[in-house]
Amino acid sequence: MSHWYQLEADVVARQINSDLEDGLTTATAQQRLLRDGPNELMAAKGKSPWQVLWGQISEPLVVMLIVAAVISGIVGDLRDAIAILAIVIFNATLGFRQERKAERALAALKKLAVPTVRVKRDGQIQECSMVSVVRGDLVLLETGNVVPADGRLVETVNLQVQEATLTGESAPVDKQASAVLTEEQPLGDRCNMVYHSTTITRGRGTFVVTETGMETEIGHIARMLQSVDVEATPLQKRLAQLGKVLGAGAIAISLVIATMGFIQGEPLRQMLITAVSIAVAAVPEGLPAVVTIALALGAERMLKRQALIRHLPAVETLGSVTTICSDKTGTLTANRMTVTVLDMADEQVALEDALNNPSLSLLLLSGALCNDASLDNDQAIGDPTEAALITAAAQLGLPKRKLDQLWPRIDEVPFDSDRKRMTTYHRCEQPLPTFLQQTWQQVAPSHTNTVVFSKGALHSLIPTLDRVWVDDQVQPLTDDLRQRICSAHDHLANQGLRVLGLAFRPLASAPEELEHQLVFLGMMGLMDPARPEVKDAIGLCQTAGIQVVMITGDHPLTAKHIAQDLGIGSNPLLTGQDLSKMPVDELETVVTKIGVYARVTPEDKLKIVQALQRRGHIVAMTGDGVNDAPALKQADIGVAMGITGTDVAKEAADIVLQDDNFASIVAAVREGRVIYDNIRKFIKYTLAGNVGQLWLLFLAPFLGMPIPLVPIQILWINLIADGLLALALSFEPAEQRVMERPPYHPNESIFSRGMGADILWIGLFLGLILILVAYDYQSSGNPAWQTMVFTTLAFSRIALSEGVRSSSESLFRIGLLSNTKLLGAVIVTFCLQLVVIYVPVCQVFFSTVALNGQEFAIALLLGTVIFWAVEFKKALFR
Ligand code: ATP
Repeated sequence: MSHWYQLEADVVARQINSDLEDGLTTATAQQRLLRDGPNELMAAKGKSPWQVLWGQISEPLVVMLIVAAVISGIVGDLRDAIAILAIVIFNATLGFRQERKAERALAALKKLAVPTVRVKRDGQIQECSMVSVVRGDLVLLETGNVVPADGRLVETVNLQVQEATLTGESAPVDKQASAVLTEEQPLGDRCNMVYHSTTITRGRGTFVVTETGMETEIGHIARMLQSVDVEATPLQKRLAQLGKVLGAGAIAISLVIATMGFIQGEPLRQMLITAVSIAVAAVPEGLPAVVTIALALGAERMLKRQALIRHLPAVETLGSVTTICSDKTGTLTANRMTVTVLDMADEQVALEDALNNPSLSLLLLSGALCNDASLDNDQAIGDPTEAALITAAAQLGLPKRKLDQLWPRIDEVPFDSDRKRMTTYHRCEQPLPTFLQQTWQQVAPSHTNTVVFSKGALHSLIPTLDRVWVDDQVQPLTDDLRQRICSAHDHLANQGLRVLGLAFRPLASAPEELEHQLVFLGMMGLMDPARPEVKDAIGLCQTAGIQVVMITGDHPLTAKHIAQDLGIGSNPLLTGQDLSKMPVDELETVVTKIGVYARVTPEDKLKIVQALQRRGHIVAMTGDGVNDAPALKQADIGVAMGITGTDVAKEAADIVLQDDNFASIVAAVREGRVIYDNIRKFIKYTLAGNVGQLWLLFLAPFLGMPIPLVPIQILWINLIADGLLALALSFEPAEQRVMERPPYHPNESIFSRGMGADILWIGLFLGLILILVAYDYQSSGNPAWQTMVFTTLAFSRIALSEGVRSSSESLFRIGLLSNTKLLGAVIVTFCLQLVVIYVPVCQVFFSTVALNGQEFAIALLLGTVIFWAVEFKKALFR
């Protein structure tokens, strides 16, 4: 059988029952979707429930607990063994549920990240999800698309495809629909085919789908690579490390305490059990679950703020961002371009005054013809710059569709951000309408019936020019004229306008080179208003210690004007030209001072990211085009535009902005900070409490007391505090000042900025309160002395959970109700503690006695002391 590439496109279409004119019908497409299944590469399978459970149980901290339970069982206290196992089961259940929830949240995010595809069905161009592309579909491709399936090309215009994913060859290859290959060819040489997951680097085309999903070439490879493991994020790795250190520390300390107790004359068996309980209590076993859930829920919250997370580590890195490099157009500005000024031969005319000025129609006409946007019921579709041009032309009675009929396009050199210009070649259909007839006759000698139009940034257009259209005739481009044009350009750019130059050249026949010996026509100034919310977002970055850098393909004067408008400030500006002369080393020395980069190419972005990173910055970089991919990959956080971004940019990015809005990046950064803050709060809370408990157990023997808590009580405290209360802390909403402090560097210790000291002093203070209670009641021979200590400790830990909610604000300012999950946990644990000391069955199990009213009140009062101490310290520092 012949391969698809050995057949004409129409033969291929016939063989798979498709139609090259109208595509499939919607009904057929649906049937085929049912028959062949969705166009998906079978993703690496998610973890099975058993794997998740095993992951939970095999955590080092949990293994420690299980060993502890076994030792307790052997040594003889079944109660403790049961209690420890209860902790294990409680934790595993919690962790299991959270991890499943996290997995589901991430799976939902993944679904959202599936690109859409333009297909032709029922004769209409429609958008559909890549997953629902079927065999026989006609798919339209343009620069920046990722090819959604394998297929035979039907039409190509300068189409180039990068097929490195399949062939390893990174240079793009040319594609030609008309080619029919006779011999068998390796994949890289099949120039009339396109393949799933390759990317369009230039031009456009249409292909008919021959294979989808796992039947595609990439599908064959995917089958081989199915078991990809999800890697832990840097924070998860660091916390796992911390867990190990704490575990080892806990064992060491518990052995010391047990030995001391033994020397004091406590029975060995009792001391062994105590050692085990202390070790269990000192370990923050809830930590892994908290981190997983905090990251996944954070990703969900970021989506609500329009940032779609593609890689989980991005959630934590976002909180550490120190520099945001943002494109100007569409991200800082609204991308609602309108032509406001026309400039011809030094005469500047506002668009509204240009009505009925025939000499300007040539300028508008060329802008509309050298243009890929289209008008649909007065609504322009396409690149906003181009949309503005056809809208302006239509306003002056030159609708694009009509112009396209009169001057059909026969060739083109597409726009790209490196060249910053675009050129098209047209045939002129006679007869023209009278009002255009006159204009055309003026510019085109009688034997010419083709014309080149070019538009682009002035500096990139100038090398293609040799004449100028002045006063309705062609004149040579003299130095004087060039000077005049440039100063007119600067005048427009100084007002913050994007300036496009236009040129043309009438010809009798196709030229050797399109962009050569052109006649300069004039310029248009386009206005793009700043997004209203961006100014505040930039202000927020400034207080948060985050530098904002504008990167634009626009002219320096335009860029500067808008940067000042937005408050990016008067930092110095570098142009792409400056950058090209600068090695990265030199850029590195100045890079932190630059606020605006103008006239840059996507390659420059890579250089900027590298230089910033070498200076220790954590960089978020935005991008939308194919060429932005390397910079997006290099940045710590690659940010792709959801609306205007190409598939290629999205694939390279860590997050995709659903609304293309700079303010959404800042919102995501804020969420990232909240997550990190909450993890810190969790650690502070559990460790400070555990340290307090350790002091109590450590100091008691020195004061000649027996061990003040029985093992089961230690385990109980551990269950309520490290379990319920601590977990609820990860739902803490943002602190008011979250964007008023400098970012945490990813390598900065978790205990930095006073947290380590807080843990130590709170722990010591708590230990002292407890030891005083113990000493007082024990020395007076009160049989309830252990229950007093136990209950004061429980109440202290409950109170402390509310105290650590904010690192600087008082609880009375943030309010009890702003974290209802924690409030619920507080109430539940309080009630449970009452049950444990007052219900007779529990008294036996927990070795407690009922406290009388006075004792209970004292325990309650002393329990809140630690809370007041924490609040006092916060007030002091405020
Ligand atoms: P920013 O970098 O600020 O987000 P951008 O990415 O839109 O802007 P480019 O698309 O690289 O910037 O445009 C750079 C320059 O190229 C513009 O200043 C303009 O002069 C010119 N230009 C933009 N779009 C077109 C187009 N469709 N045809 C011709 N020239 C264009």
